[in-house]
Amino acid sequence: MKILVASRIHEKAIQLLRENGFEVSVVEEPPEEELARLIKGFDGLIVRSKPLVTRKVIESADRLKVIARAGVGLDNIDVEAAKEKGITLINAPESSTQSVAELAVGLMLAVARKIAFSDRKMREGYWAKKEAMGVELSGKTLGVIGAGRIGSAVARIAKYGFNMHILYYDVSCREDLSKELGAECVSIEELLKRSDIVTIHVPLLPETRHMINEQRLRLMKKTAILINTSRGAVVDTAALVKALSEGWIAGAGLDVFEEEPLPRDHPLTKLENVVLTPHIGASTKEAQEKAGIEVARKIVEFFKK
Ligand code: NAD
Repeated sequence: MKILVASRIHEKAIQLLRENGFEVSVVEEPPEEELARLIKGFDGLIVRSKPLVTRKVIESADRLKVIARAGVGLDNIDVEAAKEKGITLINAPESSTQSVAELAVGLMLAVARKIAFSDRKMREGYWAKKEAMGVELSGKTLGVIGAGRIGSAVARIAKYGFNMHILYYDVSCREDLSKELGAECVSIEELLKRSDIVTIHVPLLPETRHMINEQRLRLMKKTAILINTSRGAVVDTAALVKALSEGWIAGAGLDVFEEEPLPRDHPLTKLENVVLTPHIGASTKEAQEKAGIEVARKIVEFFKK
C-alpha cells in the first residue's frame, strides 16, 4: 500500500506507517496541479489544513481509498467529491482537545488579569499598574456552551484548577458532567445571565451560526468575559464589537474569527479589552504529534479490514 503524505506530519506517524509495511512518500503542500499528477498510484493521502484536496485532485486519483486529515476540520477537502468516489475520510478529533482547552483557559486569564494589555503598555514605556486591576477566576461561574470534548476539558480545568462553578448548555444534558463537576445543565439564556465567564465550544452548523448575537450578548453581565475558541461565525462579530465598545460586557478572548486572517485594521484590533490569537488552538507540538499518530493508526486499521 502506498501513502502520500502531503503536509509536514510528525516523524513518529511516518515511522508507524512504515513499520506496518506501508510505502510512504512525502511531498510538502504541493499545489493543486502537482497534487493531481502525484496522486496517481497512491492508496492513501494524508494532509493537514493544507494543501487543498480539490475535486480535480480527487478525480485524478486512480486507486485512492482514504484521505486522512491530521487534525479536525475537513475544510480543505472536497468532501462531496470524495464521497462520490467512495473514498473514506479520516480525521483526528481527539488530538487537539487539551491544547484548545488550555488556550481557552489562557485567554480567560489573559483577559481577567489584563496580561496582554499590561505587556503592550510596558513595551510603550508605561507602568499601567492602576489600569491593570483585574479579577480572579476562583469561585466565579463559568458558562460552557457546547460541553463536548473541548468544553468538558475546559470545565474540568476550571473546576479543579480554580474551583469555578460550572453551568453548561448543550443539545442534551450530560449526567457524567453534572455528577463529576456538580455542573448545572441550563438554557442558553440562563447561562448567559448567570455566568462571569462564557466559553464557546460548539461546532459551526447552520443552527449555531451567530448563536451569540446582539440579543444574547445583552443578556450577559456587564462584568462578564466571552471566550471563543470554536469557530468565528458562531458569534456575530459586529454585535460583539458593539458589546465591547459600549460596555455591555467587560472583555473577550478570541482565537477564531468570521474572516481569517483577521483584516489588519479590524475594529477588534482597536479595543483594549480584547485578547486576540491567530487560530492557534491546536498549534502545539503535542497536538500535532497526537494528530499524526491518530491518523496513522486509523490508516493501519482501515487497510487491515
Ligand atoms: P465536540 O463534537 O466534542 O463537542 C461539540 C459539542 O457541541 C457537543 O457536545 C454537541 O452536542 C454540542 N452542540 C452541537 N450543536 C449544538 C447546538 N446547536 N447547541 C448546543 N450544543 C451543540 O467538538 P470539540 O472537539 O469539543 O470541538 C468544539 C469546537 O472547537 C468545534 O467548533 C471545533 O471546530 C473547534 N476547534 C477549534 C480549534 C482551534 O484551533 N481553535 C481546534 C479544534 C477544534
